[in-house]
Amino acid sequence: MTVQVYCANCGASPIPTDIGIRCPDCGNEATREAAQEDIQAHHDEMAAIALQRKAQKIGKDHPWITVSPGEIPTRDYKFITDYTPENVLARAGETS
Ligand SMILES: [Zn+2]
Repeated sequence: MTVQVYCANCGASPIPTDIGIRCPDCGNEATREAAQEDIQAHHDEMAAIALQRKAQKIGKDHPWITVSPGEIPTRDYKFITDYTPENVLARAGETS
């Protein structure tokens, strides 16, 4: 699976540098390791949101099931991917 990486600041596609990646539009940059960490954390957050929405939908369809959503940790990202809760659910064959 290939993912498209975007600048979290302005949405441009970053270009590779000696140490990592840099946004050609706003100058946002990160080392390879930091970018990798951001992308992984963003991916995990999107997956958690998707799972929570799915649980809430189940709770709505089945009122006898209690769904108590937990806190999903978030952070400021420098770089993100096109991975969103919507396309996580779409890939899983769910409609939201
Ligand atoms: Zn940018």
